[in-house]
Amino acid sequence: MKPESLMMSYGYKPELSEGSVKCPIFQTSTFVFKTAEAGKAFFEVAYGLRDKRKGEETGLIYSRINNPDLEILEARLTLWDEAEDCAVFESGMSAITTVLFEFLKPDDMLLISSPLYGGSDHFIKKILTKFGIHVVEFRVGQSKNDIVKIVESSGLAGKLALVYIETPANPTNDLIDIACSKEIADHFSTSNRPVYLAVDNTYMGPLWQHPLKHGADLVLYSATKYIGGHSDVIAGACLGSKALLKRVKALRTFLGNMPSPNTGWLLLRSLETLKARMDIQSANADKVVQFLNQHPLIEKVYFPGNLTAKDGVQYNIKIKQCLSNGGMISFDIKGGEKEAFKFLNSLKLIKLAVSLGSTESLAEHPATMTHVDVDAELRKKLSITSQMIRVSVGIENHEDIIADISQALDKSVNK
Ligand SMILES: *Cc1c(COP(=O)(O)O)cnc(C)c1O
Repeated sequence: MKPESLMMSYGYKPELSEGSVKCPIFQTSTFVFKTAEAGKAFFEVAYGLRDKRKGEETGLIYSRINNPDLEILEARLTLWDEAEDCAVFESGMSAITTVLFEFLKPDDMLLISSPLYGGSDHFIKKILTKFGIHVVEFRVGQSKNDIVKIVESSGLAGKLALVYIETPANPTNDLIDIACSKEIADHFSTSNRPVYLAVDNTYMGPLWQHPLKHGADLVLYSATKYIGGHSDVIAGACLGSKALLKRVKALRTFLGNMPSPNTGWLLLRSLETLKARMDIQSANADKVVQFLNQHPLIEKVYFPGNLTAKDGVQYNIKIKQCLSNGGMISFDIKGGEKEAFKFLNSLKLIKLAVSLGSTESLAEHPATMTHVDVDAELRKKLSITSQMIRVSVGIENHEDIIADISQALDKSVNK
């Protein structure tokens, strides 16, 4: 069966919960062991002292280690990416930072794509570097040869431990080739020093891009975005092989950054409508872009759906790895900050807020909001100007979204 058919049942046994159709919130910190022997066995497996025996059911211990809401959520999340295992976190940032801490140690080198989500960029450049981790970056649009040269000329090639990318890049929707990033990781891998590839897949969500299928070792999500989808919860997730997730989960146990049972339950509720919501968001985005493309007050639209064979490499990457054009649109309006702010202040249906992937449409101004922290020179190179608006398309009727954008555009040029 397809994942969307399994989101209401997978991993949950009603008979263990009084026949309740829906998984209850297991609001408990600790679990009763039937016997001391059972408690001993659960700890042996949870702490990795031995592997699970064939057919052995491991039990619940303590909600920092395991909890039914989190375990069922993790099982359901693996279905979309066809991953062996998943770990959920109390935020996207905690999923990302836990992976970076687990797969890097002092004097290692981390290769990143640029631009990255502001929080990831800050953590990598301002915090990881305090722990002696070397950071080297490449920009979207650079070829495999360019990137290999950047790594080699850094003089740190032998120290490369992790490649970390985000595609499509926020807010410009520039694409990075996942398979090519894996080739770069492999190029610098040795048998006793594997170089892993981690991909932040938040922008495409679990439906529209499957990085593990293109060679990524780990895929990361801010579950606050499409997965949660209702702007009412902060959470994160990491997916990959059982072997790598064992390491991620062990560090999570000791950092204690798992989500609460209530967050797990909210996300289970959200996952039931993930496909339905994302289908509508993608269809709406295509229609909004058709409107923007022909509007005289729009100078440029940044959207994977606008790529054609003429765009060469970017188009080829899209065909290879994107299953949809996504639900995120950026565009340059005529004028500058004044016109952009007038546009944002005139929106009636679309909310003026950061974040993305939710049921309601949201709009923001990257240059002064989400990307204000990005170095001004780099911002210019990335075409994040004062004219740029970013919209996350929701599930409202597309005609209402378009009418709202249309009336706000008219107001942006009026005195
Ligand atoms: C929001 C976001 C994050 C951070 O997630 P939180 O849930 O806010 O901690 C990371 N990466 C991307 C691409 C995001 O959009």
